[in-house]
Amino acid sequence: MSCIFCRIASGEVATTKAYEDSEVVAFYDTAPQAPTHILVIPKAHIPSLSAITEENAHIGTAIFRAIAELSKRAEFAGGFRVVSNSGADGGQTVGHLHFHMLGGRALGWPPG
Ligand code: AMP
Ligand code: ZN
Repeated sequence: MSCIFCRIASGEVATTKAYEDSEVVAFYDTAPQAPTHILVIPKAHIPSLSAITEENAHIGTAIFRAIAELSKRAEFAGGFRVVSNSGADGGQTVGHLHFHMLGGRALGWPPG
């Protein structure tokens, strides 16, 4: 298993977890772009948002529920942003679907 996020999901690679349920795990990004930067991923290997199908779309519900749960944390009291970089132009560097959850400061818009 070469996918780093699959290895994190299986527990083979240790991370600081922020949330976990049967389908989703969330952990702190090792190169944070905001005071609080959490990655929310499906445990199943899905390459990106482009790979969502009728069969696996239920993961969207599980991920949004995890994000809503995480959003109750004090660090996100002022608001937060969710980003899923997809493909080369989107800036995706890890080929396992993930949602960045950023907060703890006022974020600029538009992104680069
Ligand atoms: P992206 O560039 O949108 O594909 O996001 C990938 C993110 O994964 C980047 O923000 C990296 O800092 C983060 N990342 C890569 N490897 C790890 C790891 N082992 N633990 C936590 N975050 C990671
Ligand atoms: Zn994977």
